[in-house]
Amino acid sequence: MTPSSGRRAIIAGIAGQDGSYLAELLVSKGYRVLGFLKKNEGTENLARILGDVVLEETELVRKEDILRWTRLFGPDEVYNFAGMSFIPACWDDPYRALEANTLLVAALLDALRADCPGARYYQASSSEIYGDPPSSPQDENTPHNPMTPYGVSKLAAHLLTGLYRKRHGMFAVSGILYNHESPRRQAHFVTQKIARAAAEFSLGRTDKLRLGNLDARRDWGFAGDFVQGIWMMLQQETPADYVLATGVTHSIRDFLAAAFDRVMLRWEDCVETDPALVRPVEVGLLVGDATRAREKLGWAPKVGFEQLAGMMVEAQVEKARSAAG
Ligand code: GDP
Repeated sequence: MTPSSGRRAIIAGIAGQDGSYLAELLVSKGYRVLGFLKKNEGTENLARILGDVVLEETELVRKEDILRWTRLFGPDEVYNFAGMSFIPACWDDPYRALEANTLLVAALLDALRADCPGARYYQASSSEIYGDPPSSPQDENTPHNPMTPYGVSKLAAHLLTGLYRKRHGMFAVSGILYNHESPRRQAHFVTQKIARAAAEFSLGRTDKLRLGNLDARRDWGFAGDFVQGIWMMLQQETPADYVLATGVTHSIRDFLAAAFDRVMLRWEDCVETDPALVRPVEVGLLVGDATRAREKLGWAPKVGFEQLAGMMVEAQVEKARSAAG
């Protein structure tokens, strides 16, 4: 591994799931880390490293802030996880989705081009750029076909990142990440919703958990594994985009079974479906082929599906117990 002590990194979206795992990784490698987070955003994900990172609150990470901070801080690496990631919220407010997920990237890339062209840039891209794909599994060469405003906003940012690499010779790459979860996943994503409910039922909850489409499938991995791959992408000699995925899909039913098994309950007794939660547009079969990452980066996910569900349920049990005093 490249010795990286003393290097400087900016993480936009540091207080979220991926930003916080990456920040921990970079701090452990001796980086100096500056992170952007939203105003009034909680910092519980950063509890382990609060004293080791510099935080800057901005409502949207704006170009003026980026310019000021890139000049002051002189980053070697910039990682962008900021934005809107919940798909229904992007349907509700596509304008804001594009502002947060696309315009911000334009601001970041252009600020780096002007002031810090040697800095390496990571863009959090998404399997949602494939939307309804012509083939499965998808790799870096699969045609893009987004099905949601979120996917469109992410695709524009992805393409822009590629353009800055080609047109300006910058080390700018996109990580095309399939769903990745953890105890730090936000509460409205289905895995966390299920993990929390499983914990609550084990502690006596009685009202049913309401879910949408139980047959939807996702390629779910562990966020902590994925940030390792993200860091590796910026340590290469030449920049390239990479798919990070487990290559295996599971259904919502599978996740329910894995989560409720952990607390020795039958999910069928605790769940009811709610048509209002069924999405009007679903993506196709999104499953990733991470061969390039495996061969070029030496990356492979370590945490398996049952282990992931178990770790999320256990974290929620602990949380519920400590909330109950
Ligand atoms: P996404 O892949 O970024 O949309 O991740 P989510 O965790 O939000 O959703 C994953 C899948 O779970 C989608 O296909 C949803 O339709 C399905 N799903 C079923 N019930 C629910 C629910 O109650 N909440 C959410 N968020 N998703 C649900």
